[in-house]
Amino acid sequence: MSDILTHYIAGQSVAGRSGRQSPVYNPASGEISAQVPLASVEEVDAAVSAATQAFPGWAATTPLRRARILFKFKTLLEAHADQLAALITREHGKVHDDALGEVTRGLEVVEFACGIPHLLKGEFTENVGTNVDSHSLRQSLGVVAGITPFNFPVMVPMWMFPVALACGNCFILKPSERDPSPSLLLAELLKQAGLPDGVFNVVHGDKVAVDALLDHPQVQALSFVGSTPIARYIYERGASHGKRVQALGGAKNHMVVMPDADLDQAVDALMGAAYGSAGERCMAISVAVAVGDETADALIERLQPKVKALKVGPGDLPGVEMGPLVTAQHREKVLGYIEKGVAEGAQLLVDGREHQVPGHENGYFVGGSLFDRVTPEMSIYREEIFGPVLVVVRVADYQSAIRLINAHEFANGTALFTRDGDTARHFASHIQVGMVGINVPIPVPMAFHSFGGWKASLFGDHHMHGPEGVRFYTRMKTVTSRWPTGIRSGSEFSMPTMK
Ligand code: NAD
Repeated sequence: MSDILTHYIAGQSVAGRSGRQSPVYNPASGEISAQVPLASVEEVDAAVSAATQAFPGWAATTPLRRARILFKFKTLLEAHADQLAALITREHGKVHDDALGEVTRGLEVVEFACGIPHLLKGEFTENVGTNVDSHSLRQSLGVVAGITPFNFPVMVPMWMFPVALACGNCFILKPSERDPSPSLLLAELLKQAGLPDGVFNVVHGDKVAVDALLDHPQVQALSFVGSTPIARYIYERGASHGKRVQALGGAKNHMVVMPDADLDQAVDALMGAAYGSAGERCMAISVAVAVGDETADALIERLQPKVKALKVGPGDLPGVEMGPLVTAQHREKVLGYIEKGVAEGAQLLVDGREHQVPGHENGYFVGGSLFDRVTPEMSIYREEIFGPVLVVVRVADYQSAIRLINAHEFANGTALFTRDGDTARHFASHIQVGMVGINVPIPVPMAFHSFGGWKASLFGDHHMHGPEGVRFYTRMKTVTSRWPTGIRSGSEFSMPTMK
């Protein structure tokens, strides 16, 4: 028996009425674990109405009271971290510890949001003109929406809504239809924390729901995380209606290994960054750029046995390092890329295609795969695979590595492994990528910094969470005031200036 999920509107679970639904799978077994309703335009409208009604009261709630609710939510998240992680593993497939790590990284944004009153302080100048003062303040936008991907069903929504709520907005979450259950537990916990009904809503759905949010006149801003073609679409359609949009897209993250790098450290880092979460991370390293053939040979010699020895299995089994891919369709896509890589002439050193997990023959497993001698023209280099496939590109020198990365369409994250400070400093300064790691393979910024890539990895101006998140979810107003002093200067018809 699979669960039938509901939407969450105005503080209540609301059954889907569109007549459309989609199966949610347990990727480790291939069984259907739930059915998720797909919202109609009318159901999205009901959520927007609930949020619109809740907005004046929430915006007028003092920043400190809003922060206190988030603080309560944080303690509830801590108490339910295991339950959230289990839901993630059941629908996404990632291993339990990894799912717990995802919950923690989301929780850190809630911790950041608890301190947002400090960032909502405005600026004040006394006497910008004689007896005239000016102050600027940041106000909430209204109803805002978040559309999120399958790969972080808890963390990515929490990049958005804690900041949006702390800033005084009401939020509508449209989670991925592939792993929708954790968002409903988040909604329940927010209610338990004391969040007024209608301030946070969840509508499940597909393109119909997303388009309804994009076109809805009451939705002021949209935050999106997902693949690049959809990110571009969201940005263009949202902006055409004059909405504020931040749309984070796909990635192809390179890790450069210099000849002077600590190779054991680099290999350990590569294993986790390439194969953790079965490569279904926007900050996964999917390209190792080895500088010089000697470095490449030494790297491969260490990597190959480790990739072969990866412990692949269901995410709820202790000791497993890598779970299944999210759906059968996504597995097919990843297998297709491995075929293409072979056909294009890359050297397949470890082939994960035939990997079997005894007792889980219907699960969506793929073993770790490793390609050597990959060139920039190959599709396995150019395109995002989003699976446990690491490609090694050999370059002659450091400058070639820089040129390679800077020519790529995607620019989310990158890393350099070296012992040389001069090279590291040059890399950090000249690489055209949004998030850079020096001997750090997955440089995901902490909650009080902001997360975002460049080029085809982000459309819009603002990165997520941290100070950029506060700027995204608020708009500035500047007030200039003069109080009657009894001194009159008469009417002025020219542009006011300081005399
Ligand atoms: P996706 O683009 O397929 O879906 C993302 C969201 O968009 C989902 O909620 C989905 O329902 C909706 N959607 C899908 N097709 C749509 C359409 N035609 N019109 C309107 N909405 C649509 O992405 P995904 O497969 O869920 O997630 C994986 C992708 O997300 C990868 O490309 C990954 O790199 C990217 N990602 C990026 C970041 C980042 O920070 N840049 C973080 C996580 C994931």
